[in-house]
Amino acid sequence: MSSGQQSVTALKKFTNFTNWFDELLLNAKIADNRYPVKGFIVYLENGAYIIEKIKRLLEEKLEKTGHKLMYFPLVATEELFSKEAEHIKGFSREVFKIEQREEKGAERILIVRPTSETIIYPMFKLWIRSHADLPLKIHQSVNVYRYETKATRPLYRVREIPWNEAHTAHESPSDAERQVKEAIEIYREVLEELGISFLLLKRPDFDKFAGAVYSIAFDAWNPDGRINQVGTVHNLGKNFSKAYDITFEKKDGSRGLVYQLCYGFGYSRVLAAIIAQHGDDRGLVLPPIVAPTQIVLIPILFKGQEKEVLEYSREIYAELKDIWRTTLDDREDITPGEKFYYWEMMGAPIRVEIGPREVLEGIVTLTRRDTLERLQCNRSEIVKEISQLMEKISQNLREKSKRMLYQMILDCRELEEAAKAVDNKNIVRAAWCGSMDCAQKIKEHVGGEIRGERYDVGEHPDRPCIACGQQAKTIIYIARAY
Ligand SMILES: [Zn+2]
Repeated sequence: MSSGQQSVTALKKFTNFTNWFDELLLNAKIADNRYPVKGFIVYLENGAYIIEKIKRLLEEKLEKTGHKLMYFPLVATEELFSKEAEHIKGFSREVFKIEQREEKGAERILIVRPTSETIIYPMFKLWIRSHADLPLKIHQSVNVYRYETKATRPLYRVREIPWNEAHTAHESPSDAERQVKEAIEIYREVLEELGISFLLLKRPDFDKFAGAVYSIAFDAWNPDGRINQVGTVHNLGKNFSKAYDITFEKKDGSRGLVYQLCYGFGYSRVLAAIIAQHGDDRGLVLPPIVAPTQIVLIPILFKGQEKEVLEYSREIYAELKDIWRTTLDDREDITPGEKFYYWEMMGAPIRVEIGPREVLEGIVTLTRRDTLERLQCNRSEIVKEISQLMEKISQNLREKSKRMLYQMILDCRELEEAAKAVDNKNIVRAAWCGSMDCAQKIKEHVGGEIRGERYDVGEHPDRPCIACGQQAKTIIYIARAY
């Protein structure tokens, strides 16, 4: 039984991403897209499990940095929702509404949260009295609802969005700026632990969050060249505290408006990025930290030696199961080859094979899912060996994903060249003068959108604007997006 068996699947991650992804969602028990309401999906056992793991990773970091876990209601009144003018303009067309019939026949419309600023900030107004109440940092992991008018895609563009949203209030702009950095660091750490690579971009003004002063986005790469925005951090300045009248007494006794931030981390999109960035034509390749099964043990039974092999397998299973999420696949109705195939599709990071030879020599055979490399080690070394292998797998996934991101970025100086690059599933790097006319021209000619400029790295334009040839202000990234 060799790990070099031919995969019979015709799935092709880079040439036919959509089919590859959709088939894998169902086959690997991530999600079922056949629920009969458009834009709503069922999360199956592995999808729900991985999301729960991502959620715990994130929430632990949020709580360590002083964010308090709370839960706010699902609904707001239309009046509450309409207080911040830009915000209502940005979201009004995609809200779900509930018609509420009062006793005397009067009707009222409730808004189902598309995001929770309008639900949380009236409470901030009640809670914040003085500088001693600041900073206030809260978070919740909930579903938000957006009536997407664009074509929906499972995990990427859904109408019921599982995410974490955090909201903070501060006494000064510099405190708010510090919070932007802390939020970015939290999201960056989680994504790095998952091996997901991304561009950290400051969105152009025309694409910032409705009601924000500026928005920073985590744009993960995708095999089809489209950007998958997995997280955003918004500095709201005083826009919402003005609208909701959230004031505090300063140290000098005067009153002022608080400075606010909100930031969101999309669980289903992060799950999509794990699948899309690490998976291959055999199926999922899961980072050990979130894999529902981290180790699968497969006994290879030969007539007459079943007993010894099974006993040895069970001993090793007993040794591993308290340290890692381990499955002993001792199903009798399928062959070891079929099990290999199945667990490769499921993305289990390490496979342990045990046959008569392993029993005889007191060894085990290990196979890494990420590289399909096989190695053998003594039974007594198995825990040490697997610990090191898990570390290597995580690191390899992270590095491989980062290399792919930088391979996808293509420098372009002409619109035509940029259009070709976007067609070819690249992310374009170009210079822009900052004018709306040119942004429009780029969108029309290139077929991708300006996603923004690097936030973590200062990049200075060394060439004229790609659209008008005049002096450029920034280096921008252009891509199609989900
Ligand atoms: Zn220009």
